[in-house]
Amino acid sequence: MRYQPFDIRLARLRESARRFGWNEVLLGNSAQGRPIVGFIQEGGGQRVLAWSLMHGNEPTGFEALVAFMRHTKFESSYLILPILNPDGAEAFTRHNGEGVDVNRDARAQESAEARALVLAAKRFRPDIALNLHDQRPRFYPESGTKPATFSLLAPKGHPEVPTPAQQDAQLRAQIILARWTQILFTSWEGGVARFDDQFYPTAFGEFFQEQGIATLTIETGISLGDWTRMAAASQLADLLTDLDTWQAETTMDPSPYLSLPMNASPANEWVIHHANGVLHLRQHEQVVAGVHTCHWMVDTWLDNHPTWIESRTTHAFGSPPIGEVFTTETLQAEGLVPDLGLKI
Ligand SMILES: [Zn+2]
Repeated sequence: MRYQPFDIRLARLRESARRFGWNEVLLGNSAQGRPIVGFIQEGGGQRVLAWSLMHGNEPTGFEALVAFMRHTKFESSYLILPILNPDGAEAFTRHNGEGVDVNRDARAQESAEARALVLAAKRFRPDIALNLHDQRPRFYPESGTKPATFSLLAPKGHPEVPTPAQQDAQLRAQIILARWTQILFTSWEGGVARFDDQFYPTAFGEFFQEQGIATLTIETGISLGDWTRMAAASQLADLLTDLDTWQAETTMDPSPYLSLPMNASPANEWVIHHANGVLHLRQHEQVVAGVHTCHWMVDTWLDNHPTWIESRTTHAFGSPPIGEVFTTETLQAEGLVPDLGLKI
């Protein structure tokens, strides 16, 4: 479900919490007055803090967390904030209700969302932090030919000279990601990449890693046949389940993660070869008046990049201006929409 109003998402969380024994805690209120809530499960063991919808138009991690909540037994302890940015989630925007990118507010903490996350970490004292995001379809593993369905990052804890605690936190994050890389390769080989760990001082990944909390950033993307990312969400929930019983001593080698191809951009999401030339399209989704739509938008001419869908037709498209939108219906009328699960 790419878009749901905040109230419906919150009701789903509360239903899962009630049935599966999670306690709700209020951590703040957004600028527009929506609650920023966390859900706690005290299972003992390692302490895991996880959040999603920090960017309001990136819901795959939310779906994974809702699925993960519905376990009957937990080995580890959790505090999860599945709707960290309620106003952004309601409007389906990256930024919060005041136009702040919460993931650039870790130090200034000007937004209620950043303060809620800092408060959650202070109270809960996690060993591991999971920062769950979505990326645009056009990211791909460098030199690869598929979209990057999972792009992984263990951020640096210091721009130059990390302390032993910061080094240890990053290594623990890399080791978890190495294990996840191996799990992902069974179903998603060629669709897994890693980000470079350039230090972004204002981002939460670096902020928590700096404090010695092993922090993982996961960016989920599309795969062909899964443009709604529900399969990716299900896989992410399975990774969280694996982490529940993970023991640091059993695997200590970060190299499967470190040898992943780098995340690259941009790719062409769709190329149509037609009678008048070539048309490059990219997926464009938005929510207007509570209605989510998904269109194809004419993109800039970009050559020598991977293409996720390629169509050939004798139909002439002319030269539509960059930014022009094609609805799925328009393209279907031309016989040009393959069955790739674009109905969201
Ligand atoms: Zn994001």
